[in-house]
Formats: sequence, structure tokens, C-alpha cells
Amino acid sequence: MTLRRRMTRGLGTIGSMQRRSFLLALAALAAPASGNATPAVALPRIAAVPGGVARVDLGPADTPPQVTVDGRRVLVMRPARDWSALVGIPLAARPGSTLALQVADAAGSREIAVRVQPKRYATQQLKVAPKHVQLSPEDLARHEREREHLQQVLQHWSYAPPSTLRLRTPVSGRRSSSFGLRRVFNGEARNPHSGMDIAAPVGTPVAAAAAGAVIDTGEYFFNGNTVIVDHGQGFLTLYCHLDAIGAASGARLAAGEPIGTVGATGRVTGPHLHFSVYLNATAVDPALFLPAATTG
Ligand code: ZN
Repeated sequence: MTLRRRMTRGLGTIGSMQRRSFLLALAALAAPASGNATPAVALPRIAAVPGGVARVDLGPADTPPQVTVDGRRVLVMRPARDWSALVGIPLAARPGSTLALQVADAAGSREIAVRVQPKRYATQQLKVAPKHVQLSPEDLARHEREREHLQQVLQHWSYAPPSTLRLRTPVSGRRSSSFGLRRVFNGEARNPHSGMDIAAPVGTPVAAAAAGAVIDTGEYFFNGNTVIVDHGQGFLTLYCHLDAIGAASGARLAAGEPIGTVGATGRVTGPHLHFSVYLNATAVDPALFLPAATTG
């Protein structure tokens, strides 16, 4: 219904010359997915803030424009007649600064600046076992190896675009810690929270937030048992602290298929799912992609 209302409103803004072809395009959009039409893709909530998602219009083109930011590929899609880039903005980006998108299409190359808007996140003091704050040389070496590996995985790029940018909640429960929270462990500042925590009992099934392919599984020092799913074009979801991993690397998953169970592995203060969303290898706020919280 929302789609139809938007389309009807759109009709008022185009000339009669274009109206016929526009109506044909509308008919194509309304056709079943088996037709030639590009299906409309549901977008996340857009907010050009640190940890948010900017939507940048790229204009019309026959082939998808190629877009990078800081050398990383950026998701492009065609929600309407024109192409759009959906850019993940780093949490560390300063409000008022700009990100430079490099755009290449049939017309040539150009740069588009995205201005970062202000957003404040809360601060939280946490007490954890000292062994997780002051790492032994062995643990530090292990963490460095794992961090390098995970950074590689998060750069993963597949060409097929995601079928949707709206996610289903991977597990129901209280949202116990939100994205962007600045955390201080035993008095020492750490990186802000790169995901959303959902509290649930050990053993609760965790579901894939959208269709995709498992690109990494492992048991990591901080993240515990972890699964990473690629939904296409750098749109990734990450599930941490699992009790059991229930999906193999390389497996293709439908939305809602089980990937494991909630646990308390890695650095945690209790059982929960840590859920992260990535665009262009940048952690962005999962809440922008999920239905509004009904609990917590
Ligand atoms: Zn977390």
C-alpha cells in the first residue's frame, strides 16, 4: 500500500511525454518476480550520521555504477528509475566532515561528497574479568591474528545485490545494549559498541536475518563462537557469543534459517546475541535495518 501511494504521488511530478513509459515501468514493477522487472528493494532507515547509512543518488544508467569509499566497494541499487549508493558511515567519522565517494559509470568518473551529520551515543561503565582487559602476550597475539582475519572477512564482496535491506530480528529478547555505546571496561575506554546485544537464554535458536551465504565461522577470543553471513555487495551480518554454531561456512541460507544458538562464549557478562551489520566493511546500526523494538 505504501508503495502504491508513493507511486501515485510520483505521477504528478512527471511530464505527459514520459507518463506512458513511466506507467509501463509501473506495470513492470507490479509484475510478478518472474518477469523482467527489477523488483523494488526495501531500504533501511537512512541517516547520514556516524554509524548510519547515507543514500546517494547516482542518476540513471544502463549498467550499475561502480562506487568506492576509502578504496572499499559500496552497495549500489536501483530502488526507482535512478541508481542509489547506500554508504555505511564509520562510527568514528566526525560530524561535519565529508566522505568522498568515487563513482565510475559509462559517463566517466566523478567524486561525490557526503557530509556527516551529528549524532551522540551514550557512555557505559562495565566491569569484566581482568584477564579480558589486560591480555596476556599469548592472548594479545591471538587477538591480533583474529582481528586481521576478521578484517579480511569483512572486506568480502559478492556481486549479486541483496534481495532486501530490511532484516528480521535474529532472536527475540530484550535489546540489552545498543549500537554506538561508548564502553569503559574497568576504567579503560574501549572501542564503541559495534553491534546490538539481544539478551536471551542459552540455547535459544538464532535465525539468519536475511537470505545469504555463510562466509566465516569460528571461535574467537572476544567474539566467541561466531557466524558471518553475506547478503550481497558487502551487506553482511555477524552473530557472536553463540553456544553452538549451526551453519557451515559456504552454506546458503534462506531468511530465518537457523545459524546457531544463543550462548555466552568469548568476552561476555551473560548470555546474549551480539548482532552486527556491515556495509562497505563498516559497522552500522542494526536498528536501522530491523523492525522497531517491541521489548527492551
Ligand atoms: Zn555486543
